[in-house]
Amino acid sequence: MTCYSHSRISTFEQCRYKYKLQYIDKIKVDVPTTIECFMGDLVHRTLEKLYADLKFQKLNSKEDLLKFYNNLWDKEYTSEILIAKQDYSADNYKQMGVKFISDYYDQYKPFDQMTILGLETQDRMTLPDGNQWHVRIDKLACKDKTYYVCDYKTNSRMKDQEDADSDRQLALYSVWVKDKFPDAEKVVLLWHMLAFNKEVVSIRSDDELKKLQNDTVKAIKTIEACNDFPQNTSALCNYCVFKSICPSFKHELELEEKTVEEFKEDDGVKLVDEYAQLDIQEKDIKKKKEDIKSRLIEFSKQKEVDIVYGSNKKASIKSYDKVVYPEDKDAFLNLIKEKGIYEEVSMLCYPKLTSRINKNQIDPEIISLTSKETDYRISVSKRKNREDD
Ligand code: SF4
Repeated sequence: MTCYSHSRISTFEQCRYKYKLQYIDKIKVDVPTTIECFMGDLVHRTLEKLYADLKFQKLNSKEDLLKFYNNLWDKEYTSEILIAKQDYSADNYKQMGVKFISDYYDQYKPFDQMTILGLETQDRMTLPDGNQWHVRIDKLACKDKTYYVCDYKTNSRMKDQEDADSDRQLALYSVWVKDKFPDAEKVVLLWHMLAFNKEVVSIRSDDELKKLQNDTVKAIKTIEACNDFPQNTSALCNYCVFKSICPSFKHELELEEKTVEEFKEDDGVKLVDEYAQLDIQEKDIKKKKEDIKSRLIEFSKQKEVDIVYGSNKKASIKSYDKVVYPEDKDAFLNLIKEKGIYEEVSMLCYPKLTSRINKNQIDPEIISLTSKETDYRISVSKRKNREDD
C-alpha cells in the first residue's frame, strides 16, 4: 500500500507530468533552498524549541528565543540560498522571522492556553481503501476534550475562511486525532498566520470528514488508474523544480542562453513566427470572405441576378430555406425520440466516443476494433516575455 499525502495528491491535481517525475520516476534534481523555506524552517524550529523547553518547565525569554533563531541563521545561512525577489535582501527575511517569533511570543506568553501533546508529530493513518496517509503536525495540543491541530504559516498570503474550510491536509489529521484520542469531543484546525499575527480556525463535522475521506480515496483511485501524464502549464510552473527538464520549457530555457542573433536564427523561433503569421492571415481571410459574401448577396439582390461574373470565375448565389430549430433543445430532442425518428436522424458523436475510448470507458469489443496512431494539434498563444516579469 502506498503512503499518500496532501502534497502528493495536490501535485497530481496540479500537473500529472510533474507527479510522474516526482513520485513514479523519482527524479532527483538539485534545487536551491529558497530564502522563504529557509526562514520558515528556522521559525518552526525556534517555536518547537519554545514548547520543547516548556515541557521541562523552562520558559525561554523572548530574547533567548530570538538569540536561538539568530544563531541558527548565522550558522546555517549560505550564499547558495535563493532570493528570487531581487528587491529584498537576506537580512530583510531574517528580520521577518524575528518579527514573527516576537509577535507570537507577545501574543501567547506564558503559553499555558493549552496542553501540548506533540511537536512535529509524524505518523501514518490508514484510509478506508487501505492506503496510508502521512500525518505531520507542527503542534498538537488539547484543552479539556477539545483538541487542536496547529500549523505555523510564514507565507505572506493570508488564508481566508474559505481556504481554511476547504483545506484537505489538516482536516484529514482530525480523523487521525479522533482515532488516537477517543475522548476528543471537538477537533479544531488552527493555522497561525505568523505574518499577520492572526489565527484562522476550521472545525469539520463527522459528515464532512467522511465526505473528505471518500473524496480523497476517489482522488487516489484516479491517480492509481492513470496511465497518461501530460504537462499542465500554469503560473505554478515558475516554482516547479522540474522546469529545466520539462518539455514545455526546455526550448524556452535554451533560447534564454542564446545571443540575439542566435535567437533570431533558431529554427523553432522561425517556424513559430511563420505559423503564427499564417494563423493571423487565415483569420483575416475568413473575415474578409464573410464580408465579401454579404456584399455579393446584396449585389445579386440589387441587380436581381443569381450569377455574378468575375474576370475568370463566376459566383452563383442561390437562396435556400435554412431551418431554425427551437431554443429548448432538450424538449425538441425528446419529441424526436417520441416520434421514433431519433435512430434515423442522429449521428455518432466522434469526440465523445474518442474520449470514452481513451479513458477505457467503453465495451472492450468496440475498443478492439479501433487502433491508435499519433497525431498532433498545434495551438498558438502569446508567449510571456522576460520583460513581463
Ligand atoms: S514546469 Fe509546469 S508543466 Fe512542466 S512539469 Fe513542472 S508543473 Fe508540469
